[in-house]
Amino acid sequence: MGRFDGRIAVVTGAARGIGLGIATRFADEGASVAVLDLDEGQAAEAAGGLATGQKHVGIGCDVSDSVSVQTAVDRVVADLGGLHILVNNAGVTRDNLLFKMSDEDWDAVMGVHLRGAFLMTRAAQKHFVEQKYGKVICLSSVSALGNRGQANYAAAKMGIQGFVRTLGIELGPFGVNANAIAPGFIATDMTDATAARVGMPVEEFRKAAADRNPVRRVGFPEDIAAAAAFLCSDEASYITGQTLYVDGGAKLVS
Ligand code: NAP
Repeated sequence: MGRFDGRIAVVTGAARGIGLGIATRFADEGASVAVLDLDEGQAAEAAGGLATGQKHVGIGCDVSDSVSVQTAVDRVVADLGGLHILVNNAGVTRDNLLFKMSDEDWDAVMGVHLRGAFLMTRAAQKHFVEQKYGKVICLSSVSALGNRGQANYAAAKMGIQGFVRTLGIELGPFGVNANAIAPGFIATDMTDATAARVGMPVEEFRKAAADRNPVRRVGFPEDIAAAAAFLCSDEASYITGQTLYVDGGAKLVS
């Protein structure tokens, strides 16, 4: 028996990276999973690779667009029969020093991380409140604490922490828990792209991050998936509005 038998989970930006890791973990523990991502083909391919035994679905969705979000959430409920868990994971970076950061760089990051989490959660809460049960996880980041070249991303990721605190207050009476996970360096396409931007080979970039980290390794999507599974389990029903740093202790030494 899995912890998420009979549960229906939506994970945004889950065609790859951390989102795919979370979708895989939920499916392995019995959930039916809706993989949302910009490209429906890639979302469907990812959903097709999840644990067999339950129905999964891949849906094309731009989380920054309210019509796209409402359509996707309606499809999840119609195709999988309900909604119990929402993971707001979709993300982009548009890094630049403040004086070079464009309006578009700012708006793109706010649009996916903050507006996206808001639109998805607003659409999902209707189902959660009606059934008096729901779990929301939002991806924050250690960058919320400040990171050179990421004024937009840091502001969005700290905004996420305020967002889940408020969800905790508003939705707690309706049996809904909302928490954030703030990863440190996780080996994905996103951090590989940062390596390319600073002109370092991926392995060298990862090794430098591992050497700086108290546990002397980088993180992997599975590390974040384990935390998400715990926070969405019934064992964690007294935890809400919190941000859990999953970073190997990176923020202790930065
Ligand atoms: P990733 O490998 O770049 O994957 C992000 C996914 O989000 C991609 O599949 C991307 O689709 C999708 N996406 C982008 N914009 C979208 C939109 N408007 N609507 C729907 N999907 C969209 O990133 P990751 O490293 O797995 O990061 C996942 C989350 O963790 C992000 O919120 C990120 O900020 C956060 N995080 C990551 C790290 C890290 O070290 N990797 C650290 C802290 C926090 P496309 O492929 O089509 O662009």
